[in-house]
Amino acid sequence: MHKARGSKQDIRFCKEALTMLPEAEKKYLINTYARQAGITPVLVRGKGSFVFDDEGKEYLDFVGGLAVNALGHCHPAVVEAACEQMAKLIHTSNLYYTEPQIKLAHLLVEHTPADRLFLCNSGAEANEAAIKIARKYAKMQDLQRFEIITAYQSFHGRTMATLTATGQEKFHQGFEPLVPGFRYAVFNDLDSFRALANACTCAIMLEPVQGEGGIHVARKDFIEGLRQLCDAHGLLLIFDEVQCGLGRTGKFLAADHYGVTADIITLAKALGGGLPAGAMLCKEQVAAAFSPGDHASTFGGNPVACAAAIAVVTEITKEGFLAEVERKGLYFKEGLLSLQRDFPGLIKEVRGLGLMLGVELQGDGLVVQRKCAERGLLINCVAGKTLRFLPPLTVKAEEIDRALAILQETLRLMPDGG
Ligand SMILES: *Cc1c(COP(=O)(O)O)cnc(C)c1O
Repeated sequence: MHKARGSKQDIRFCKEALTMLPEAEKKYLINTYARQAGITPVLVRGKGSFVFDDEGKEYLDFVGGLAVNALGHCHPAVVEAACEQMAKLIHTSNLYYTEPQIKLAHLLVEHTPADRLFLCNSGAEANEAAIKIARKYAKMQDLQRFEIITAYQSFHGRTMATLTATGQEKFHQGFEPLVPGFRYAVFNDLDSFRALANACTCAIMLEPVQGEGGIHVARKDFIEGLRQLCDAHGLLLIFDEVQCGLGRTGKFLAADHYGVTADIITLAKALGGGLPAGAMLCKEQVAAAFSPGDHASTFGGNPVACAAAIAVVTEITKEGFLAEVERKGLYFKEGLLSLQRDFPGLIKEVRGLGLMLGVELQGDGLVVQRKCAERGLLINCVAGKTLRFLPPLTVKAEEIDRALAILQETLRLMPDGG
């Protein structure tokens, strides 16, 4: 039987369908995500720094779509750019020229030390492109070079090569045999990288600020040392800026804090303003390693994603925007350090750069994550004990205050919270 659109029954059906979602997802989706428990988990709307569930409850969103929603939810510039492009041309394939793609490429080259880029749809795909071009480039000089050194605690993606690049055992288990040619060294320990560089090495790949591994910031002397090591051995330096790039740390690239230039840079997460977009950027001589047919992506450089990305990059690079991110980051970090002084038995360390911050707890972080969600603050917990904060870069000072107040209240009620 057909029901009139917008009738009471329709509305009731929608509500019931929403409350049934958790069960329905268990039945139909492959079980890959541990959804955040403890809150009504169906989010239906977002605006600025807030998301709303199906009962209208609002949450301050300091997960930020895992560093994707850099401009908050439904930023008007992103919505307008994507909608306008959507009505004009959604997809053509890369057999043809499209304007948003070339404009985006131009913008990104202008704001980074790179000369050229390849557009794709995700962080893993950007890193795959980086791994492929690094190997091809190295082989053109010396056939035996193919190894890439990455760091323990790193995260580079979930495809077979990027999974192997990821220096965390727990992501490897069950998927062996892994892709050959990856070795792991200790983050922030130059000697450990130096010890692994040999005649087979082609590149070093690193997140200047490790995200998934628990928010670990590289030291300046370490990054400078890696650059020198690469130069001395003819290795390529790859910075995975998928999470820490695009203004997250208060500079356009996290690498800009160090004054060190990588040969290859990967971006994704925040790039598309919530639409899938990624990029692998590199220097001219590295770019020359790829010729037509070497690499491709059906959706890569999609006009709608690129139009949204142009809006994102335009906003982030507006006069004063990044300085403001840096300022708010310091303000937030100061607040977190003050919480550490209040709860020394609960908080072990506060780390991070800009608006990419982590609080390592003495104990399990999941319970704090859940209790914050109940109080209307979304954060997530990485590496077991570290609360990760990735608010929109457009977050307001009073929203940071509110997050700190919720966190304080939550910690106060924890055992050992005084
Ligand atoms: C999230 C992430 C990736 C993987 O990105 P996907 O878009 O999920 O494939 C790679 N590197 C870093 C540093 C990340 O944070």
